[in-house]
Amino acid sequence: MERIYIGMGSNIAAPNQQLCNAIEALALVPNTTVACVSTFYQSDSLLPGQPRYTNAVAAIDSNLAPLDLLDALQAIENNQGRERLERWGPRTLDLDILLFGEHLIDKPRLKVPHYQMQLRAFVIYPLAELAPADLQLPNGPILRVLLTTCPFMNLERIRFT
Ligand code: ATP
Ligand code: CA
Ligand code: CA
Repeated sequence: MERIYIGMGSNIAAPNQQLCNAIEALALVPNTTVACVSTFYQSDSLLPGQPRYTNAVAAIDSNLAPLDLLDALQAIENNQGRERLERWGPRTLDLDILLFGEHLIDKPRLKVPHYQMQLRAFVIYPLAELAPADLQLPNGPILRVLLTTCPFMNLERIRFT
């Protein structure tokens, strides 16, 4: 079993509901359990002119090999209507593998840790709800430090009433 952190994002077609559906779908992936999920956040799109995103991070435990997990995540994205028209285009659902235990993975289809996670507040803040602040990424940085160095991106925690 490995502890794996999944970054989730959506900015079209009822983003909060897309993330809820994705969490239910993650719980159905074979040999995998959902350990916990962060609160939801909103942040500005990386590209201007798009709706704001809802983001969260899920911690899962899985026996799947990394590429098999990536296949399962892409199947969930496709089931929820993901279209790949342009890079960083609006999307119903994006599921990224942020961390896979302590593994460094450098394959054509899969790079872990996620190549830009250190720069993305919408990843670092929800991750810090689930992982210890002294967590060290396998490529060096410590989560506590990333909280102070990543750009803020107008991140807002969503409060459900
Ligand atoms: P970004 O990667 O900058 O967050 P994106 O999530 O919009 O952008 P996608 O179109 O969802 O990019 O993914 C492009 C490809 O990235 C996928 O087909 C997948 O093979 C590859 N990929 C590489 N590393 C990862 C990872 N850690 N998690 C998910 N996909 C990855
Ligand atoms: Ca992404
Ligand atoms: Ca992705």
